[in-house]
Amino acid sequence: MRTSQYLLTTTRETPADAEIISHQLMLRGSFIRRLAAGLYTWLPLGLRVLRKVENIIREEMDKAGAQEVLMPAVQPAELWRETGRWEQYGSELLRFTDRHQRFFCFGPTHEEVITDLIRREIQSYKQLPANFYQIQLKFRDEIRPRFGVMRSREFLMKDAYSFHTDQTSLGQTYHQMYETYSCIFDRIGLTFRAVQADTGMIGGKTSHEFHVLATSGEDAIAFSDKSAYAANVELAVALPPTDKPATPKETLSLIETPGQCTIREISQFLNIPSSRCIKTLLVQGSEGELVALALRGDHELNAVKAQKLPQVANPLQFATPEQVWETCNASIGSIGPKGLEISLIVDHSAAQLADFVCGANMEGKHFTGVNWGRDLPEPTTADIRNVVDGDPSPDGEGTLSIARGIEVGHIFQLGKKYSQAMNATVLDEAGRAINLAMGCYGIGVSRVVAAAIEQNHDEHGIIWPAPIAPFQLALVPINAHKSVRVKEMSDQLYTELQAAGFEVLLDDRQLRPGVIFADMDLIGIPHRLVISERGLENSTVEYKRRQDGKTCVIQLDNFISGLK
Ligand code: ATP
Ligand code: MG
Ligand code: MG
Ligand code: MG
Repeated sequence: MRTSQYLLTTTRETPADAEIISHQLMLRGSFIRRLAAGLYTWLPLGLRVLRKVENIIREEMDKAGAQEVLMPAVQPAELWRETGRWEQYGSELLRFTDRHQRFFCFGPTHEEVITDLIRREIQSYKQLPANFYQIQLKFRDEIRPRFGVMRSREFLMKDAYSFHTDQTSLGQTYHQMYETYSCIFDRIGLTFRAVQADTGMIGGKTSHEFHVLATSGEDAIAFSDKSAYAANVELAVALPPTDKPATPKETLSLIETPGQCTIREISQFLNIPSSRCIKTLLVQGSEGELVALALRGDHELNAVKAQKLPQVANPLQFATPEQVWETCNASIGSIGPKGLEISLIVDHSAAQLADFVCGANMEGKHFTGVNWGRDLPEPTTADIRNVVDGDPSPDGEGTLSIARGIEVGHIFQLGKKYSQAMNATVLDEAGRAINLAMGCYGIGVSRVVAAAIEQNHDEHGIIWPAPIAPFQLALVPINAHKSVRVKEMSDQLYTELQAAGFEVLLDDRQLRPGVIFADMDLIGIPHRLVISERGLENSTVEYKRRQDGKTCVIQLDNFISGLK
């Protein structure tokens, strides 16, 4: 490619609204352009990088025996109603209607669509296990889109879904995907860690996240110095070492004043170290009924749910999120300055707690079991902290180190959550219909590009890991418009390097060499060759490696014959 014909529109100024380095460099280097909040155009240079990441992922997924498909980005509401997620998903789900007033969403993920496909296509255990993937645009109406393509609203994801007759087979594919992900991030050239993770809105039990280590990462991850224990700090806190459910210190009742309370206040009351601990709280109503509030932790958004539950032995306890999640009807709490404000909760038809406001019951029914009140002392830092460097590891082995990470991949064992909700079955060997076990596996393809920059840059710009660099080599003729010799040699090298399989960017703009060098450094091309009149007098060109700035002089004859 010749820069004179290429959309290379670099800038020197740091864009004011770009907070982190990858966002700044992607804008400055003309990799992306913003269209609207969380919406980006990939310019030619950026798209080359994105495609490289995509191809590495595709190769490794194919190698693992996964089959590529491409599902619609637009999904009918009916499927989401089958699993209950139409109500549960909250404001991140972009919903709209077509001309016939039918409801649709722009897919943030594809469990429903793939499960619908598989329940139609696969009837027998003999066709399983099977793993399907796609590389496709997703839309999530993020509450705070930021950091460019790192947290955008529309983004490219590789999502895969596996189907099995039993848990053993699911476990095997899950393990294989874990290995495949490790291989993908190794090949891209990233420093990463796999950690145990929360399953969030997707659901299921076992889950691992893959984090690229970078100080700008939005997540904190904890790992032990003595064992293989590694977890997202959200989870490191959520699973205390004793594994015993936390119990309240005291039970207060009859808080008369309606009001709001924060997760922080609840954690404080229950004497557990962090707001993130709370997954589900069962509260006993005054008439002995049990009410559940499921508080799902996600630094962006928390959903709050409440419903009368069937009788549970222990009136005040922690239940598994799924226990409640699956039976609850949705409503959403929003994050306030102090944490999650539990402002509105109940689906009127689902419970008798109409207009229940946290802290009191409008119908005059008071609740015992939890102090929702505002009369709590302000939580101290020690009470609400997450795990920190040097804390004992939850598995009892060694101490924890904390690092910042960017979540680039996430794998889940979903079990039968979707197959039960959507009645996806196959016939087993005995001819019985059984629900499919399912796994799902995501990689944020566009986020990987930004994460790679966070890990690989210096004061001059990006230093692409070679496997995802937009071009391998920059060819820089000095004053080619004044020297026929320089022009001819650079054209010859350009042709021969390309014939030898190199991706070459020939900078044939009539600019000062300093400007060109700065641009090539900014856009992070791993190798640079400079062709100058002075060099050609000695039959040499000058080589520079972007990674460490090392230069050397190369004899042209040897170089060209080496290419053949
Ligand atoms: P996050 O915690 O960052 O919001 P998530 O846990 O909601 O991500 P998943 O549902 O696990 O995301 O989706 C799979 C992958 O998609 C994530 O691991 C991440 O790499 C990527 N991803 C998720 N949300 C975004 C986004 N808004 N912009 C870019 N990539 C994203
Ligand atoms: Mg998210
Ligand atoms: Mg996450
Ligand atoms: Mg995730």
